[in-house]
Amino acid sequence: MNIVIAGPQGSGKGTQAELIAKKYLLTHVSAGDVLREEMAKKTVLGQEISNIINKGNLIPDTLMNEVMEKKILDLKKQNILFDGYPRTKDQTEFITSTLQIDKIIELTLTDGQAVERLSTRRVCEKCGMNFNTVTLKPKKEGVCDSCGGKLIQRADDYPDAIKKRLADYHKNNRPVMSLLKSKAKYYKVDGSPSIEEIFKKICSLLGT
Ligand code: AMP
Repeated sequence: MNIVIAGPQGSGKGTQAELIAKKYLLTHVSAGDVLREEMAKKTVLGQEISNIINKGNLIPDTLMNEVMEKKILDLKKQNILFDGYPRTKDQTEFITSTLQIDKIIELTLTDGQAVERLSTRRVCEKCGMNFNTVTLKPKKEGVCDSCGGKLIQRADDYPDAIKKRLADYHKNNRPVMSLLKSKAKYYKVDGSPSIEEIFKKICSLLGT
C-alpha cells in the first residue's frame, strides 16, 4: 500500500506522516528531507538544491522526479508514505505512472494558521526533529529533546519565503489533487485540531 499525505506548509503533514508510517508499517519518505540530505552532502547538486530551497522556490520537476525515483529504487518495493511529493501536475503524472498510489490524505489549513505555525517552527539542525515555540516546546529552550542538537529556524520559514511557498501550493494543489483523486481513495482531514485529534481522525478513516 502506498499513501500520499498532502496539505499546505505547516498543516502538520510531517508529524502525521511519522505517526501513520509507524502504525501502518510504511516507509516515510519526506521530499523535503530527501532534498536536505542531498544538501548536507555538500555536493554540487546539493548546493544547487540549497540555492533554490532557501529562496522558497520549488525544485524543478525533472530534478525532483529524478531524486525521488532514486529514493524509490533504493527502497526496493517497500510500502511508502509520500510526504510533500507529488506537489505539481508533472510530478503527479510521473509518480502515478511509476507506482500505484492507493490512498491520499489531504490536510486542510487556512493561510493565516499556516503562517503562524511556520514562523514558530524550530528544527533540530542535527537530526531534523520538529518543535514549535508555542505548541510543541522542547524540554530545554533551543535544544533538541532527541539528540541534544541546536534548534534553528529554517531559512524558508521566514515570512517572505512562507508567502511564496503558500502561493506555489495553492497554484499547484488543485491539478495535483484532481489527478490523484482519479487514481486513489481520497480523504480530507481538518489540520487545525491537536496532533492527537488529527491522528485519531486519520486512523478512523484508514481503519485500524
Ligand atoms: P518541506 O520540508 O516539505 O517544506 O520542503 C522544503 C522545500 O523543499 C520546499 O520549499 C521546496 O523548495 C522543496 N521541495 C520539497 N518538496 C518538493 C517537491 N515535491 N517539489 C519541488 N520542491 C520541493
